[in-house]
Amino acid sequence: MKKFKRYTITSALPYANGPLHIGHIAGAYLPADTYVRFLRLRGEDVVYVCGSDEHGVAITLGAKKEGLTPKAFVDKYHNIMKKAFEDFGISFDIYSRTSNEIHYKTAQEFFTKINDQNLFTIDSSDQYYDEEEKIFLADRYIIGTCPNCANPNAYGDQCEKCGTSLSPKQLINPRSTVSGKTPVLRPTKHWYFPLDKFEGWLKEWLVEGHKDDWKTNVYGQCKSWIDQGLQPRSITRDLDWGIPVPLPEAKGKVLYVWFDAPIGYISATKELKGKDWEKYWKDPETRLIHFIGKDNIVFHCIIFPSMLKANGEFILPDNVPANEFLNLEGEKLSTSRNHAVWLHEYLQEFPGRRDELRYVLTSISPETKDADFTWSDYQKKVNSELVAILGNFVNRVMVLTWKYFDGKVPSEKEIAGTTEKRKKILAYYNQAHTDLDKTVKEMINCLQTFKFREAQFQMMNLARIGNKFLADAEPWKLAKEDMEAVAAILNYALTVVGNIAVACEPFLPDAAKSIKKQLNASGLDKKWNELWTKEQLVHTVPEGHQLNAAELLYKNIEDEDIARQVSRLKKTESKPMEATNLKAIKPEVVFDDFSKLDIRIGKVVAAEKMEKSDKLLKLTINAGVDTRTILSGIAKHYSAEEMVGKQVAFIANLAPRKMMGIESQGMILSAEDSDGKLRLIRPDEIVNPGSTVS
Ligand SMILES: [Zn+2]
Repeated sequence: MKKFKRYTITSALPYANGPLHIGHIAGAYLPADTYVRFLRLRGEDVVYVCGSDEHGVAITLGAKKEGLTPKAFVDKYHNIMKKAFEDFGISFDIYSRTSNEIHYKTAQEFFTKINDQNLFTIDSSDQYYDEEEKIFLADRYIIGTCPNCANPNAYGDQCEKCGTSLSPKQLINPRSTVSGKTPVLRPTKHWYFPLDKFEGWLKEWLVEGHKDDWKTNVYGQCKSWIDQGLQPRSITRDLDWGIPVPLPEAKGKVLYVWFDAPIGYISATKELKGKDWEKYWKDPETRLIHFIGKDNIVFHCIIFPSMLKANGEFILPDNVPANEFLNLEGEKLSTSRNHAVWLHEYLQEFPGRRDELRYVLTSISPETKDADFTWSDYQKKVNSELVAILGNFVNRVMVLTWKYFDGKVPSEKEIAGTTEKRKKILAYYNQAHTDLDKTVKEMINCLQTFKFREAQFQMMNLARIGNKFLADAEPWKLAKEDMEAVAAILNYALTVVGNIAVACEPFLPDAAKSIKKQLNASGLDKKWNELWTKEQLVHTVPEGHQLNAAELLYKNIEDEDIARQVSRLKKTESKPMEATNLKAIKPEVVFDDFSKLDIRIGKVVAAEKMEKSDKLLKLTINAGVDTRTILSGIAKHYSAEEMVGKQVAFIANLAPRKMMGIESQGMILSAEDSDGKLRLIRPDEIVNPGSTVS
């Protein structure tokens, strides 16, 4: 294996249009984090970069749906994702975002460098345009009747019923999914990256050059793409949200999100390292590795490397260990159906249990084929592996050392095989030591070749070896007759614990921290890591070293914890409320009481904060029948700016009331969450202002 001077590791930039679920984590983040922690353990020079992908039609449409500006929309999801990654312990050196100025500059320079070589081609063609929304429609946002099977809801790129790949112009009766209206064809000009010109180079660099070292699922998909022949790809879009194409003749056009996003890895490294960034992207002795899910293979293995090659200044990825997909309880993860385990919700509902989710996700990591997460498997793996094998071994060694030696590391004096009993113990020791050495080497080998499932299994084998050694040697039976032997046994058991403390750091960082604390290992662990770099075993803490108190690494996951998660998946609602926080149901009313209320939907057309109040917003509502002013006590939960454009539900026939000199003509409806936060009640889809609610 080639020796590299340093490493640049990237995880796919997640789209800032929704929270993260376990499928994302298992695909591009946990494997990368495991690998990076391993590299750091060995003292390698590594940068681990990621950030939010904040451009593209998915962002502008998502923002529209939530009644936010694109900026407010990406701010919201960037912060949610950044926090979830941090709370889960994904150890990025930087988590940046593609709306940063440094990224605009980097992406535009990247474009210009290729443009200066006259590599792009410009082509004008007719594309569907939504006159109501004033946007050119991406293929996915046009539906119509499939010319092949007459399915009335075929997409502009593919009919999901018969599988035919389509172009929007083939659809019969096309309509815009954004406005529902019939789009019109309009000519528009775009810049194309000549992927076809890189075919020969890709055959050499990828098909020949990475035949043996890339994962077969990744390599196979790339090869089949290249074999089919490559076409020029348009890299610009008509959109008002994104990075402007840096050419005077390209006014109103932005870089296609798939052109700008991977350049975000470079921008993030610049942001992190300042002047020192170049060696991480330009020195051939740097190893660049992209961790992604399988849906990103083409972009990271074919398009981005061709862009890097065209630019000419940068190194190329040495490996792209993409993962397949993770399913949940036998079904595809689905954001729209809320069939998912959301990372931020898991962290709330299982506080202090990050390791457990890391462990289970790595143990089923979809490295070569799709995998399935089930809650019952989660419970089984935590209870029968983390608790019963790893937690149990560490705890037994700690407790026995405290019991017999007051928590001081006993003498490691070698046991000569003078008695039958000692001969046997010596044999157990030799066996355990041989196994330990072999297992550590195997684990390191797996980590180097991105086989994280197998590597974690080997890490757990260290605890299995330790448990077997204790069970064979039975120190508790020798306590009365041969304390020298007890000391030697526990000394070696502590060596195994020390090796586990190092070995579990890439997989179970919280356990690593706890074990090091129990061993009172501050000042020692640095030396251990050095030994590991040479693939030598850690010889544990010196004789007489005082240990800290034992603590449990893991607790069992109870049946009710699992039942709650399973029933949550069956329902579609997402947040179980604490029963104690719920208000009691009000006294019964008859239907006539309810029907006296006139509840309607209106659109906020203007909003401002009331000067002398920290609670009130003054909203101007288009109520269909009229335009009215409503004062609403939601200023702590929504800014005036983000209210504009939102649809709201309000009581239209509430007697007007004067507050702070202004008459409020109605009341906005909102839901109060368990933490007191107010969330607006809004229709599932946009309706006409003035629509009644019943
Ligand atoms: Zn069809």
